[in-house]
Amino acid sequence: MEWTNRTIEQFIQAYMADPANNTMREAEGFAFAEPLVGFSRADDPLYPFYKQHIDPAFYRLPEEWLQSEYGRVFDPAGVSVISWALPQTESNRRLNAAQTDCTTMEWQYVRVHGEACNRAMAKALETALRTSGLEAVAPMCSEEFALADSERFVRISNWSERHTAFISGLGTFGLCDGLISKRGKAARYGSVIVNSALSPTVREYSQYNEYCQAKNGCTACMRRCPAGAITPSGHDKVKCINYHRQVIRLICHERYGYDGYSVCGLCQTGVPCEYGIPGVRNQQSNET
Ligand code: SF4
Ligand code: SF4
Repeated sequence: MEWTNRTIEQFIQAYMADPANNTMREAEGFAFAEPLVGFSRADDPLYPFYKQHIDPAFYRLPEEWLQSEYGRVFDPAGVSVISWALPQTESNRRLNAAQTDCTTMEWQYVRVHGEACNRAMAKALETALRTSGLEAVAPMCSEEFALADSERFVRISNWSERHTAFISGLGTFGLCDGLISKRGKAARYGSVIVNSALSPTVREYSQYNEYCQAKNGCTACMRRCPAGAITPSGHDKVKCINYHRQVIRLICHERYGYDGYSVCGLCQTGVPCEYGIPGVRNQQSNET
């Protein structure tokens, strides 16, 4: 198979259109709506910029992931990154938007089982590319993917799906740290690095927070946050994490009888950037 931007996007769309692959498992319906796909090249200067910004000793460049996987040096000019956004479905958004203190069980299922679908697709794409003779790695599925404490950012990873999506033309950051794409902020992200020179997606923005309307007075995500973790200065990760650990877990236990991994995400729904770029026509494409 010849892998081009188009055939890769078709692979991702077809994979997620299959209900066996795209499932909340413990609830009816798809985990995600139709994916949004973007591409970037490893020689994009934003990759070394974010390596320096996040932690030069810890964060890895795309070619460093390939080098670690294959044991040889790769020329970044011939390496590309495939990035995707998996938007929450319309029904899950509506259920979540009606909540004020804790997300729904469907939201928890998407975080746990939907994320497993996201990783399975990354692995399937990595395998398909390798089968065609290309060298590829999905950092999120790699045993070398790691998290670390950070004095500056509280918690960091050695590969960031949202920064990759930003570089790959998918969207810009919001006040709450979520990425606002054409399909909105309520989404999960993934990527695969491949030793092939694909066409990069044009970034239709120049600022990291260009789509966020905080500069025009939007306070919607601040008002949605029950933890007071979003202020005009940004997202307080410590307050956010503490709310997950101390309140969301308790509510999930008492309200749903659920003691599994649980998350918040209230700031992703009931806000102007939920479905798309604020001020731009809603670009959510389907319910799937
Ligand atoms: S709700 Fe408003 S302030 Fe918050 S991320 Fe979205 S656009 Fe920005
Ligand atoms: S995930 Fe929840 S606690 Fe964290 S910033 Fe968003 S609304 Fe606040």
